Amino acid sequence: MQYCRMEWAGSAAWGLVEERDGALWVTALLASPWRPDPEQVLAEPLLLDSAKLLAPVTPSKIVCVGRNYRDHAKELGNEVPSEPLLFLKPPSSLLGCGGVVEMPQVSARVDYEGELAVVIGRRMRRLQPGEDLQPYLHGVTVANDVTARDLQKKDGQWTRAKGFDGFCPVGPVVQTAVGEAEIAAGLVVETRVNGELRQHGTTADFLFSLRELLTYISAAITLEPGDLLLTGTPAGVGPVQAGDCVTVSVAGVGTLRNCFAAEKP
Ligand code: ZN
Repeated sequence: MQYCRMEWAGSAAWGLVEERDGALWVTALLASPWRPDPEQVLAEPLLLDSAKLLAPVTPSKIVCVGRNYRDHAKELGNEVPSEPLLFLKPPSSLLGCGGVVEMPQVSARVDYEGELAVVIGRRMRRLQPGEDLQPYLHGVTVANDVTARDLQKKDGQWTRAKGFDGFCPVGPVVQTAVGEAEIAAGLVVETRVNGELRQHGTTADFLFSLRELLTYISAAITLEPGDLLLTGTPAGVGPVQAGDCVTVSVAGVGTLRNCFAAEKP
């Protein structure tokens, strides 16, 4: 199943998304992402591209992993980490597919980072070796870990550089049919700026597997249903300019598109 979250009749609604004739349509409203039975079938399906999309997740926290691909760690001149490097983005940084990312005036370099994101489905605390991971996973989606690269270096810690409002575009849908096995086998992650390919990686190249990441994270932080894990970005990160449009695609999951604009005064 795949679903979205969108503006609908003046509020936010969850929508069931189905492929028909090669296009994606919102065909029904869902009471919640945890109850797949449609609450209301739409008399007229809505083209997903014409929906006003919100981020399809409402996490209590967004846990992110830095340098989880060897080539990306090296391109920024960093050592390959010996254990996962974690940071958080605030839920206030979430933005839907199609939303415009405002570039803060205090930064002279804003970068895209295309990533696979995992949605947690069940409370997870201290995942044990040999424990089945799949029941804890709800699905996957696509994210752009937008980063003010100059502030990341200047501040030393990453909260501000990665935490601006709108710096976590996610969507357009959550795909529940993709799990640990598909991620380990390799999902292709690609980022394009104005249509030009800038990042091409596969999740088969994770330095730390999804199980290793979630074991490490849940040893410290209880993950709640709906929490989001950004799994790191492959090589090829770079800056955007106002007016650029960035697409992040994960094969079999979806394509996230957001344009960038100078911050409004
Ligand atoms: Zn990242």
